[in-house]
Amino acid sequence: MNRLTDKIAIVTGAGRGIGRAIAEAFAREGAVVYATARSQRQEFEHPGVRYRSQDVSGEAGWKALVEEVVGEHDRLDALVNNAGIIEYDPIDQLSLDDWNRVVAVNQTGTWLGMREAIPHMIARGTGSIVNVSSIWGNAAVGGAHAYHATKGAVRNMSKNAAITYAASGVRVNSLHPGFIWTPLTQQQAPEVNEFVIGQTPMGRAGTPEEIAHGAVFLASDESSFMTGAELVIDGGYLAQ
Ligand code: NAP
Repeated sequence: MNRLTDKIAIVTGAGRGIGRAIAEAFAREGAVVYATARSQRQEFEHPGVRYRSQDVSGEAGWKALVEEVVGEHDRLDALVNNAGIIEYDPIDQLSLDDWNRVVAVNQTGTWLGMREAIPHMIARGTGSIVNVSSIWGNAAVGGAHAYHATKGAVRNMSKNAAITYAASGVRVNSLHPGFIWTPLTQQQAPEVNEFVIGQTPMGRAGTPEEIAHGAVFLASDESSFMTGAELVIDGGYLAQ
């Protein structure tokens, strides 16, 4: 219960699903957590979680959030770029608006978060960034072109940031969930879910808590020699 004692963390996309589980797990492990999503109000079980409304695709929102956190605590130890959205269209049916919307949240949001956080981490010579990609950042199924594009980008943006800032003490790793039972997958077509679970060697969906365990490890000092790595938690999917 003390793997993140006194660490100051930001977790985006924390209104539900994986992000909420990460925020709660970080707080249980002793972190002060700023959990964000776009809705105005959210209640959390753990008193260590403070909710802030934020659209990750907006530059001003990121600046205000990081300023508030660093202004209050004088540091930022961990950032989890988890907010993400999906569109299912293949290339030939994808509108420019939908492409731009997915890129803005999944890719630009991740970049903006890193850009605002990294200078504060460099200043203290320590920090851990966890960027949530997907098994669709490493492999593909048909359709959902913008989602695959952005999750692949997040994977390699993480490696680039890891190399660029390794000597400054800032670690950057990507986290690759397989099929996880969340509001995102709950609203997908049942045949899509059955297909992906059917292709998962363990034969079941993962839980948000199983992903949160990985995020705790990456944010904690237990992973102190780990940067530019991909932590895959997918019931064996990518091993095939
Ligand atoms: P989810 O249930 O849809 O939750 C997504 C969260 O992100 C919500 O709290 C949502 O709240 C927030 N969000 C969406 N757009 C946002 C924006 N522009 N700014 C700030 N917050 C925003 O999704 P999930 O399944 O937990 O997925 C979380 C992450 O894991 C995503 O990056 C997803 O791609 C990735 N992932 C999920 C799975 C899976 O099987 N579930 C697998 C691999 C990877 P608001 O709508 O209130 O903003």
